[in-house]
Amino acid sequence: MKSLFLSSLLLSLTLANVVPKAEQKVDYSGFKALRVKGKGKDFESQVEKLAAHVLTCGKGEYVDLVVSPDQVDAVTALATDSTVLSNDVGAMLASEGEFSAYAVPSETWFTTYHSYNDHLQFLRDLQAGYTSNSAIITAGTSVQGRTLTGIQIWGSGGRGSKPAILIHGTVHAREWITTMTTEYFAWQLLTKYNSDAAIKAVVDKFDFYIMPIVNPDGFVYTQTTDRLWRKNRQTVSSSSCVGRDINRNWPYKWEVTGGASTSPCSETYKGLAPSDAPENRGLVSQVQSLKNSRGIRLYLDIHSYGQYILWPYGYNCNLRAENDAAHRTIASAAATAIRGVFGTAYTIGPSCSTLYATTGSSTDYTDVTGNATYSYTYELRDKGTNGFVLPASQIQPTVRETWAGLLSMLQRV
Ligand SMILES: [Zn+2]
Repeated sequence: MKSLFLSSLLLSLTLANVVPKAEQKVDYSGFKALRVKGKGKDFESQVEKLAAHVLTCGKGEYVDLVVSPDQVDAVTALATDSTVLSNDVGAMLASEGEFSAYAVPSETWFTTYHSYNDHLQFLRDLQAGYTSNSAIITAGTSVQGRTLTGIQIWGSGGRGSKPAILIHGTVHAREWITTMTTEYFAWQLLTKYNSDAAIKAVVDKFDFYIMPIVNPDGFVYTQTTDRLWRKNRQTVSSSSCVGRDINRNWPYKWEVTGGASTSPCSETYKGLAPSDAPENRGLVSQVQSLKNSRGIRLYLDIHSYGQYILWPYGYNCNLRAENDAAHRTIASAAATAIRGVFGTAYTIGPSCSTLYATTGSSTDYTDVTGNATYSYTYELRDKGTNGFVLPASQIQPTVRETWAGLLSMLQRV
């Protein structure tokens, strides 16, 4: 049993800013999560400087922030409207629960969060149970030398014989529910293949490439040091701030302004050049290799939070994909399938016009350069009440409803 959260709660020091000393875990006790609106072009940059973390990473109609107790008054003074999403982020973290000890893959895996090493073990053990129709796959290496690891799953046609379904999770380190969800996809496809005709049909039709954690360094950092870390752990010589946003680093429309930041301290720092994050280079070569072999029928980038299904484009709010109508039909059916499980409501639409502008993002790249037939971003639960810190009690409902969305898509693409 590990007790990362208990040890964090034992730290009594409240940090005025969230720059921990080496190995010291950030204590969010007393920090508030706020949803703020403001006027003027400087509003967002002003509140960003005051916040410990920006949770919503684009220019939407509001901004969600985590703010230390001594900066709350300054932030609300700048806002025309503010709502408290959480009075104590530290207490929210406790609701995520402790990690459970590792158990061989069973559905109880999806009732708690887990360490990075246990996630790797989960993939290895799952694959070991289905050696004739799965394999461990990799896609390059992180800044700190971790291998981006996933699982390939195929059906009756044999390995690599069908159009590819490519699924990425946890590109943003703090979006822990996406790790659990992408693992659930793999678990369902393999463990139900022989007993569920609908699942057998899609596994026999496609070749699945599922990568639950494409930002391993950031994910580890959320467990050792700062639960709300988003980016990778790459440095830049011009700044002491760390991290590139791997999902603003893809080499398509990277140079367009307005959908990412050129400041290394920003949550959406795009990097110095397209694809200068090693994690991104690994993912780009994975997309290229699938494009050049069996072709990508469906690409999914799984994020949280907000409950959206989005499709290209992120970089231009007026542009539509040539198969925009088909994207909408499939997303609409998926949203209906998700709502049918527990009533969770999703908003769907082209990403820039529905949520906010993003440049150098994955789905624009897979749509245009990767030639994927369909590309979607999922933003999973919730709508901000818990944000990235979804309680352990919501893992199983979330993975089950999202699976319904995926299966609906697989039956239509
Ligand atoms: Zn994200």
